[in-house]
Amino acid sequence: MGPSPDMFPEAGSLWLLQLLRNIQLAQFYRPILEELNVTRPEHFHFVRPEDLDSIGMGRPAQRRLAEALKRHRSGVKSKNWVYKILGGFVPEQKETIPPSDRPPNLPEPEGGLKCLIPESAVCRRELLGSGCFGVVHRGLWTLPSGQSVPVAVKSLRVGPEGPVGTELGDFLREVSVMMKLEHPHVLCLHGLVLGQPLQMVMELAPLGSLHARLTAPAPTPPLPVTLLCLFLRQLAGAMLYLGARGLVHRDLATRNLLLASPCTIKVADFGLVRPLSGARGRYVMGGPRPIPYAWCAPESLRQGAFSSASDVWMFGVTLWEMFSGGEEPWAGVPPYLILQLLEKDRARLPRPPLCSRALYSVALRCWAPHPSDRPSFSYLEGLLQEAWPSEGRCVRDVTEPGALQMEPGDSITIIEGSPDSTTWKGQNGRTFKVGGFPASAVMLADSGSSSATRAVHRGSPGRRQRYQGNTDRDREKEKPQDLPPAQGQRRKVPLQRMKGISKSLESVLSLGPRPTGGGSSPPEPRRERAVPPGLQGLPPHPPFTSSFSQPSQPPRERPPRPKREPLHNHRINTPGASKATVLSGGLFPDTEWQRRITEVEVSVHGVTHQECQVALRATGGDVVSAIQNLKVEQLFYLSSQSRADCRRILEHYQWDLSAASRYVLAQS
Ligand code: AMP
Repeated sequence: MGPSPDMFPEAGSLWLLQLLRNIQLAQFYRPILEELNVTRPEHFHFVRPEDLDSIGMGRPAQRRLAEALKRHRSGVKSKNWVYKILGGFVPEQKETIPPSDRPPNLPEPEGGLKCLIPESAVCRRELLGSGCFGVVHRGLWTLPSGQSVPVAVKSLRVGPEGPVGTELGDFLREVSVMMKLEHPHVLCLHGLVLGQPLQMVMELAPLGSLHARLTAPAPTPPLPVTLLCLFLRQLAGAMLYLGARGLVHRDLATRNLLLASPCTIKVADFGLVRPLSGARGRYVMGGPRPIPYAWCAPESLRQGAFSSASDVWMFGVTLWEMFSGGEEPWAGVPPYLILQLLEKDRARLPRPPLCSRALYSVALRCWAPHPSDRPSFSYLEGLLQEAWPSEGRCVRDVTEPGALQMEPGDSITIIEGSPDSTTWKGQNGRTFKVGGFPASAVMLADSGSSSATRAVHRGSPGRRQRYQGNTDRDREKEKPQDLPPAQGQRRKVPLQRMKGISKSLESVLSLGPRPTGGGSSPPEPRRERAVPPGLQGLPPHPPFTSSFSQPSQPPRERPPRPKREPLHNHRINTPGASKATVLSGGLFPDTEWQRRITEVEVSVHGVTHQECQVALRATGGDVVSAIQNLKVEQLFYLSSQSRADCRRILEHYQWDLSAASRYVLAQS
C-alpha cells in the first residue's frame, strides 16, 4: 500500500516545502497549503499579514518568508527558461531536498539533471582556465550532509546584455549532454547552479588539461611514452562510448582532455557535441560557426560535416599533439590552406620524434581522406594495442656520447627497434630522455631474451588477430592499406612551438579563399535549417494547429542579443491619469495592472518584470497577446529562426515554449 497523501507533499507544491525548509519554517507548509490555499508562488500576492498571523506565524518569520519569496521570484525568473530547456521539470523539486527526505512515491522528473545545486552550496576559489563561453574556477561544493567536495565550476560568461544566444545554447547543450554521460574517462557533471551566472559544477580534474601538462616547461619532465599510449587507449574507450550514444564530440584535442590523476584522462568540453542523425550518422553544421580547423577532417572543413569518422580524424591529430609535446597542428598555416594541404597535396602532419612508426601508421589511418576508410573507435582500440611499445630493461651501462644514457636496471620503452638493426630508439623511464642506444644494452621485458634476438616491430599484419568487436567494414580494412604518403613530413611543414595553444575557433566555412578542385568528393549541399513549409522535420506531436503556409526565411546568423527596448514609449505619468491608473499609463487600475503583469511574468520564463510591462503596454493590456509576443522573442533569441518562424513553431507546439525551444535547440 502506498503512503497516505497527507504524509508527503504534493509534487506541485514541493517548491513551497523547499522554500520553507530553507528558512526553517517547514512547520507552516501544511497550514499555508491547506488553510491559505497557496499552491503557487504568485498566490502569495493575495496573502495578507493577518492571514499569516492566523496560522500562527510571527512577524519576524513573516519577514523571512517575504525575503525568501523575493529571492525565489528573482531566481525563478532567471531559472525557468533554463530548466524548461533542460527537461521541463521544476528545479526546486530536487534542489535542497536530501534524498532521504524525498517522498518515495513521487515520480522522478524525466530527462532532468542529476542534481541541481543551490548557489549557497558552492563557493568558488581560484581561476582554473577560461573557455569559449565562460570561466572555470576551482570550487568547493558542500553537500546537504555537510561533506565538502572539491569541484570545478564553469560559469557562463554574461555580458551587460545577458548571455549571447549561441553561448547560452552551447552552455545548456553541454549541460544536457554531460548529464546523461557516465564513463570512467568522461568528465562527470555533478549538477547545475541556476544562479546568476549559470554554473556547471563538475568533477575537478586537479592536474588540469593534458595540453598544459604536455607544454609544461622544465623541470617538469616529459610524459612517458607508455603513459601517452595509455591515454590514447582511455580516449578511444571514451570516444567509443560517446559514439555508441549517438554523439559526435567535434572538439577533440589535448586542451579538452583533463587529468583527473597522473594516469587518468577524462574527455571534457562538450560544448560542440552534437547528436548524430540520419542514416549516414552525420551532423552537418547549419551555418558558419566556429570550429577548430586544424583538428578537423577535410569533410568538416569543406562541408561542415561531422561524424564519428571525423572524431576519429581528430583523434589522430590529438595523438599527434600528445607525441609532439603539445605542438599546435598546422601552426602558422592559414585555415583555407589546411584544407588544400590535406586534400590537394595529401599532406599529413609529420611523425613526431616520440611517436613510433607503428603508432604513426595508426594516426595515418585516422587521416584517411574518405571517412569510411578510417578505423572505428572500437577497431582503434585494437590498433593501439597492436602498436603498444615494448618494454625492456637495461643490462649494461650506456655512456657513449650521443647515445641514450642508461644504467643497469633502467626500464626502457622501445620506440623503434628491429632485429635487423643494432641501434634502437627508446625512452629511459628514469630520466624520460629519448634517444638511440645499442640494442644489446637492453633485455626485453616480456621475453627474457636479449633484444638482439627478438623483433619489437609492432603492427605487422601477422599480429592482427586479437581485435574484438570490429565491424565488417573494419575487418575488410585488415587488408594492407594504401596509406597516403606522409607528405607533410617530407615537406617539413613548419611547426612552431606556441606559447599557448591557439584556441581560435575560426570558421573556415566563412574564410576565403575557398580551395577549388582537388577535393576528394564534391561539396554536398548544406542542410537548410529553416523550418520548411509543411512542417518538415517537426515531430508529429502535439497536433498541428496552424498552417505553415508562409515561406520560411533563410537561416541567418544570430546577432548578439540586443538590450530590449520598450516596444512603445509610454509615459508612466500620463497627464490626467488618475493615481489608480498611473502604472499602466492610464489603461487599468494599478492592482489589475499588477495582476496582469504577474500573469505574463509567470507564463513566460526568463522575462523581466519590466519586459512584461512593456509587452502589456504594447498590446493594450491584452495578456494573451503579450505572452505570445514575449514567447516569440524568447525563441527568436535562442534560435536562428526568423520571428515569423518562431511564431509558427510556437503555434505548432501550442505555445509551449519549452517544447518549442527544445525543437529549435535540436536544430542548432
Ligand atoms: P573549457 O571551458 O571547458 O574549455 O575549460 C577551460 C579550461 O578550464 C580548461 O582548458 C581547463 O584548463 C580548465 N578546466 C575546465 N574544466 C576543468 C575541470 N573539470 N577541472 C580542472 N580544470 C578544468
